Amino acid sequence: MAGKPEFKKETAKSGKVQPYPYHYSSDFVEPDWRRLPGYKNVTKEEWESALWQKRNLVKSTKQLKEIFGDLISDSLLLDIQQDQQERATMALLVPPQMINTMNEKDLKADPVRRYMLPAFSERDRKWPSHPKAGRDSLHEAEMWVVEGLTHRYPTKVLAELLSTCPQYCGHCTRMDLVGTSVPQVPKRKFEHGQKDRLEAILDYLSKTPSVRDVVVSGGDIANLPPETLEGFVSRLLDLENIRDIRLASKGLMGVPQHFLQDEVLQAMDRLAKKAVSRGVNLALHTHVNSAQSVTPLVAKAARKLLDMGFRDVRNQGVLLRGVNDSQKALLDLCFRLQDHGNILPYYFYMCDMIPNSEHWRILSSAGSEITT
Ligand code: SF4
Repeated sequence: MAGKPEFKKETAKSGKVQPYPYHYSSDFVEPDWRRLPGYKNVTKEEWESALWQKRNLVKSTKQLKEIFGDLISDSLLLDIQQDQQERATMALLVPPQMINTMNEKDLKADPVRRYMLPAFSERDRKWPSHPKAGRDSLHEAEMWVVEGLTHRYPTKVLAELLSTCPQYCGHCTRMDLVGTSVPQVPKRKFEHGQKDRLEAILDYLSKTPSVRDVVVSGGDIANLPPETLEGFVSRLLDLENIRDIRLASKGLMGVPQHFLQDEVLQAMDRLAKKAVSRGVNLALHTHVNSAQSVTPLVAKAARKLLDMGFRDVRNQGVLLRGVNDSQKALLDLCFRLQDHGNILPYYFYMCDMIPNSEHWRILSSAGSEITT
């Protein structure tokens, strides 16, 4: 058939040749951070250190200028700054690992930049928000049975253990709760301390045997001390009714260095072994929207979890206009996750109806078209 790759059946049957090879848009390598002016003296040891990544989180346009130098235009910097003042629902926070996956030669068009560092001029001027947009668009807090525990479906719950992440995504569904306040959005604060909330969540679950599936989220579990995460999940594993546990962390992609630290690996390993011994499905769910974010360090962190006994590392991505709204972008992402990242492309969902997100939201018909 014209335009299709040709292959010989005999060769394909032998298993030696992939009959339908996918042609990637780029090589699977860790981009060299030293190409960026602000990182030119950063050593491999520093780059691979979670502490260095967390100490060097990018929080301002001033830092962006220091990192990119002349590679970022003044007009884009001003555009991002204006957005933070007048439209953004999330504070600016990007780990160096994510900065390094951006295409410095065309930051204006770069998919990761477009959702992690939104620019004012890219928002929809006429209809920045859907008329039904809301701060808590999924009404999660309305369904809290105890603070931070959403019980919407009979068998499943969402446990929000914390309200911070190592990165803040411009389109965050939980913009009401997650992150530091921005001029447009003073954030909701938990009323109770973390220790009391976690106890109340465990107490509710121990008295509610209909629940079998717990999403352990936030925020991002990568911002929890490993002993806090381990203590909570280990006690979940002690509950007979709990059969599925999903740990939610975009940080697996944003700061894979976190998951490669000894104390984190050891805590995860103990949890994985306990889950296996109890026959509970323990999985990690991450959030990658663009193929370039899947790098060898991300793949290494995911592989460690699988080797310990995690049932799966899965991706749930968001369909976003200007980021991944084409079949090519989604195929690149799904094959990259599957072939190289050790991550299952699990599902994509539509960008939720949060304020100022209309420029990212695509029609559901367009969503169906590009995913079929
Ligand atoms: S990592 Fe998740 S919770 Fe955190 S800002 Fe991004 S989308 Fe929101």
